[in-house]
Amino acid sequence: MSYPSLSSQVADVREKIAAACTRVGRDPGDVTIVAVTKTHPDSAVVAVRDAGLTDVGENRVQEMESKLGSVGRLGLRWHLIGHLQRNKVRKAIEIADLIHSVDSLRLAQKISEEASALGRTVEGLIQVNVAGEATKGGLEPERALDDIAAICALPGLRIVGLMSMAPFVDDEDVVRSVFRRTRELLDRAVGTPGFDGRELSMGMSGDYEIAIEEGSTLVRLGTVLLGARTP
Ligand SMILES: *Cc1c(COP(=O)(O)O)cnc(C)c1O
Repeated sequence: MSYPSLSSQVADVREKIAAACTRVGRDPGDVTIVAVTKTHPDSAVVAVRDAGLTDVGENRVQEMESKLGSVGRLGLRWHLIGHLQRNKVRKAIEIADLIHSVDSLRLAQKISEEASALGRTVEGLIQVNVAGEATKGGLEPERALDDIAAICALPGLRIVGLMSMAPFVDDEDVVRSVFRRTRELLDRAVGTPGFDGRELSMGMSGDYEIAIEEGSTLVRLGTVLLGARTP
């Protein structure tokens, strides 16, 4: 499978990112596109690299491992964006450059343990369930600050920011408020020992411009770059 329109899609997305940044006085250089290649073939990763993108995201460890096995790292940064099962933690530490989905203290403890055993420190983002959706993972915002402090105290895991997902609704105000509350939580977490708040992973194909207006530094884009996924 090839992706003939990827370059023009990337150009279009970059323009929209620049426009969103201009609206709120941000530097577009502070926003990184993570191209989400899940369910796409290995060739999608090569296409992403050829289109000049630097970061690629997968939501499952096994799929990331399989793609890495066929195409190699290609000089890209590999992001794990989906829920991480405990029995996949070791592999995730070995292959992912950044884990966006540190979604519980229990998982963070496991990651820290495994990373320490490997003599490694892995970078992660704490996922927060700001929208309060039962189907989504992440820390509950009410007690997130306590959990963030506990997670940041763990060795082996270096937290560099937060991640959240907006609900799939048409109401822009609802989406914006989820992103805004994530940003506010990040601001409140700054100062927590061990917490580095440089990254905010927010925004997907349908809502990344809003996410950028609210401070996102990592937009996770699949459909808008690579087309619809076939399940
Ligand atoms: C699949 C996925 C995306 C990309 O979604 P699109 O709407 O196709 O851009 C982003 N983030 C996560 C966590 C995902 O699982």
